[in-house]
Amino acid sequence: MRILFLGPPGAGKGTQCKNLSEKLKVPHLSSGDLLRDAVKNGTEVGRLAKSYMDKGELVPDPVLIDMFRERLNSKECANGFILDGFPRNLAQAQALDKMLEEIKQPLIVVLNLQVPDHLLMARITGRRTCPDKQCNAVYHINFKPSPDGKNCECGAELVQRSDDKEELVKERLRIYNEQTAPLIDYYDKKLLLRTIDGDGEEQAIFADILHTLTPPAVPDSV
Ligand code: AMP
Repeated sequence: MRILFLGPPGAGKGTQCKNLSEKLKVPHLSSGDLLRDAVKNGTEVGRLAKSYMDKGELVPDPVLIDMFRERLNSKECANGFILDGFPRNLAQAQALDKMLEEIKQPLIVVLNLQVPDHLLMARITGRRTCPDKQCNAVYHINFKPSPDGKNCECGAELVQRSDDKEELVKERLRIYNEQTAPLIDYYDKKLLLRTIDGDGEEQAIFADILHTLTPPAVPDSV
């Protein structure tokens, strides 16, 4: 399965990609997680990325394109992948098309997780994440609290992402609407788009995603 997730920050892409990655046994490639790892590891890419991420702005396209080219060409992705957060604008989408064409692994489906604007701010500012690289679990102080309200089930202390503060969220949503939302139309024109209602309970949304990915049964008479 080669799947791309679209949706604004706070739509629940990370959570659903993680669910789907476990179910389908294909890697979840999150641009945000890859960049945050680079920042944590103090690499050159990480230092450059941080200066943009701290302002809620997009990191320059070549950084993301190189990062994903390397991943998509690796053995890890030989049996499929789930892309989350990349591409984020038209230039990245065109670069992705080209690299997938080169490796003859076109996207099978693009899932657009739709959530009304007025819900996004509360969802993002209440989000708490597990800093453990292997775990990366995501909670919410109201909608999905951790068992003790402080620590992840894996034991690590939960943190609020520095770009999940209100001022930065406003900028991230503005950039999403300006640069990323046009990709909905881009993939719709390629007949790849399926829209999922992302306003609801996590497991119900996941069931919807699985249903969308299931090919329709062929009637006996055919
Ligand atoms: P996310 O975790 O997807 O919300 O991403 C966090 C931040 O990483 C974004 O606000 C951007 O600064 C940066 N970022 C993630 N993906 C991309 C991308 N495809 N292109 C440029 N910047 C990105």
